[in-house]
Amino acid sequence: MGKLLSVVVSVYNEEPGLREFYQETKKVLEELPAPWEHELLFVNDGSRDGSLSILRELAAADSHVRLINFSRNFGHEAAMIAGIDYAAGDGIVCMDADLQHPPECIPRILEKFDQGFQVITMVRTKNRTAGLVKNVTSAAFYRLINCLSDVKFEANASDFFAVSRQAADVLRRNYREKVRFLRGYVQSIGFQRATLEYEARPRIAGESKYSIRSLFKFSINTILCFSDLPLKLGIYSGIAVALFGIAMAVYTIYTWAEYGTPSGYATIVVLLSFMFAMLFIIVGIIGEYIAILFAELKDRPVYIVEDMENFPSGTEHEKKMDGDDARNS
Ligand code: UDP
Ligand code: MG
Repeated sequence: MGKLLSVVVSVYNEEPGLREFYQETKKVLEELPAPWEHELLFVNDGSRDGSLSILRELAAADSHVRLINFSRNFGHEAAMIAGIDYAAGDGIVCMDADLQHPPECIPRILEKFDQGFQVITMVRTKNRTAGLVKNVTSAAFYRLINCLSDVKFEANASDFFAVSRQAADVLRRNYREKVRFLRGYVQSIGFQRATLEYEARPRIAGESKYSIRSLFKFSINTILCFSDLPLKLGIYSGIAVALFGIAMAVYTIYTWAEYGTPSGYATIVVLLSFMFAMLFIIVGIIGEYIAILFAELKDRPVYIVEDMENFPSGTEHEKKMDGDDARNS
């Protein structure tokens, strides 16, 4: 029996390079080794340019192309999640629509699937496209998260990864968090894992959608999601301040006994501002966790699908769509 490879591609305002992406990827997919067939799932994440009409055109011309159209922009991760949800493949590859993730890597991924690996993480060897700032902050981020969290993350892991059907089922069923880090989940679910290296290419066209600000927010959320160490900061700093307080008390008693007057005003001001700063930081951290709890509690959908095209009926896909309500909520 043939095997199906699903290629999930999230698309947000990629009009200028989209056709080129399709052509290059299609070339690779048509030459896949023997038992492998392919489907190409585009998730349109609320693009405001002509991406959607290009995708509809492609879907009309090519029966391997499937289209999931979101009702608005839900973000890259939501798009990948939707793609994984609706993919019918035995193997699923997630990649960007800007050709930064070279489609030539797909045959190597299939080799790994054939060898029985279930989770294949693609690691960037060189990122010529990102600036120095992005590379340095990304390295710092991975160092920090690896030190704070129990799960060890691959630095330079990208949103280019592949999972088997079994691993994808785990993501579909059990990882429905609203505040999330998909790359991290993929690395933390276990299974036989392989890493492959690839060289990131420059973007074919258009602009990167991630600003430094959104990456910063993303990093904070990730740390909070994968570690409860920040919560314990309160206890640690409490202990530190208490010890410091005892030392200060001893010192004050000593100066009072020796010189008759305890030392004064400046100390109080410094201590007060120091401790209040600490207190507010801790309250802020707790606030961040409450915000995450609140988001989970509201239980809004991860994404909303407006319409879908080219999904064959009577197949794996249809079963998925029946279960959709359960998963979307
Ligand atoms: N993307 C998306 N929704 C968004 C932002 C980005 O689906 O809100 C897609 C985008 O079309 C691209 C991929 O996610 O296919 C990666 O985005 P981008 O290339 O801007 O990020 P970078 O490669 O710079 O990290
Ligand atoms: Mg990109």
